[in-house]
Amino acid sequence: MFKDMLNDKANAKNRCLEAYKKAQELNESLNAVITFVDPSEQLEHLVEDGKMYGIPIAYKDNTTTKNITTTAGSKILSNYVPVFNAEIVDRLEAAGAVCIAKASLDELAMGGTNTTCFKGAAHNPWDLHRMTGGSSGGSAALVSTGVVAMATGSDTGDSVRKPASFCGVVGVKPTYGRISRYGIIPYASSLDHVGYFTSSVEDACVTLEVMAGRDDRDMTSSNLPVPEYSKLLNSDLKGRKIAVFKNVIDAIENKETIRIFNELVSKLEARGAIVEMFEFDDALLKAMLPTYYLIANCEASSNHSNLDGVRFGVREPGETMEEIMINSRTKGFGPLCRKRFVIGSYGLFDDNQDKLFRKAQKVRRLLVQQLNECLKDYDALLAPASGDIAPLLDGAVSDQLSDSHLIAENHMVLGNFSGYPSMTVPMGFMEGCPIGVNLTCRAFDEESMFDIAKAIEEETGFKNLKAEVK
Ligand code: GLN
Repeated sequence: MFKDMLNDKANAKNRCLEAYKKAQELNESLNAVITFVDPSEQLEHLVEDGKMYGIPIAYKDNTTTKNITTTAGSKILSNYVPVFNAEIVDRLEAAGAVCIAKASLDELAMGGTNTTCFKGAAHNPWDLHRMTGGSSGGSAALVSTGVVAMATGSDTGDSVRKPASFCGVVGVKPTYGRISRYGIIPYASSLDHVGYFTSSVEDACVTLEVMAGRDDRDMTSSNLPVPEYSKLLNSDLKGRKIAVFKNVIDAIENKETIRIFNELVSKLEARGAIVEMFEFDDALLKAMLPTYYLIANCEASSNHSNLDGVRFGVREPGETMEEIMINSRTKGFGPLCRKRFVIGSYGLFDDNQDKLFRKAQKVRRLLVQQLNECLKDYDALLAPASGDIAPLLDGAVSDQLSDSHLIAENHMVLGNFSGYPSMTVPMGFMEGCPIGVNLTCRAFDEESMFDIAKAIEEETGFKNLKAEVK
């Protein structure tokens, strides 16, 4: 998509204004946007030779934007207008990209449904009765309609890669430290990554070139130079070693998902890839989700202690400072966030830190060790990104302790535990809705990840997919 747009520079301004208008129309059905951004001013000083000149984009609304309301999907921040830009905003602007919207997310990026935003649930463009997945669901939905060519997200557990699967787009979570998180409202700092959505692997390469790189304002950002991924992209799979995540395959109940996945694997083999099963310790994998929740909730309750209605955000009245804080936090957060803050605070009590928080960190290490075992021998770990297509918005909640939930629906958190690059690309359709395949590679080996993803894209033909909103 980027290439066509760059080849038609004359139309850049028109295109962005159109996108701004179209997004507003679409939003009547999708509810994927929190704040629209009129691009007129940006269009007056477009950076001419930028790699993303005149390309309409959206930011997940936990991305700080100067003078533009940034809510993180929470009522408590619904009046927050930042005085500075996130690093990625400056980088994208310098590349000529044009923001037209701040996209919906689960409150404070907690959740996997995009139903907990204070503005209500986002709807899946392929089937409005279904969810987009979360927490970066608004971004995924916008890209899947084609109204923007790229949207940013953040990924703490799978929040880019899961909605990418449900919305039929490419979703990338690069290596921890590859993209600066300066100005991204945090969730859980040891797991948070900036990620993004595009309609093709090639566009994903260009986007990373623009967003990645050292930023002194983010002490976790890497000094490694950023390769020109788009120039290096090649889909040759000869001799590539790919591991199939056996436990995930075993845990998936939907046979059609497995059929689509196996068909894809055969095609990759036909291209010369060496594909083998890799089995993790099943008991350890079942600890993945509780481990994740503990670490994430503890870090979140600490990170969000500044949301108290005093320093910034919505303030509820009270007689004392304490009362103001209690009232602001009680009314400012939805039930899911409140629950997670309680769990997180409990895990951080002096008496509980060893028993809970630090124990979870040890389990995290064991899980990463297993992933290292796998990636020692294989270039990538491959699995369906979810067991099924997007769930219905008013559907029954699945059994949260089943293997299918614990393993098949949550395996992508390994990419956050390890920090290794991981992405989802579309692999098939069921009932008119897309489902994706996920691959995880070695640290800073985005190059191999993109190559394998490109081969998958060539085999499926699922590139620049456009959902027609009905
Ligand atoms: N669904 C996970 C959670 O609720 C992931 C969220 C994320 O990656 N931001 O924490």
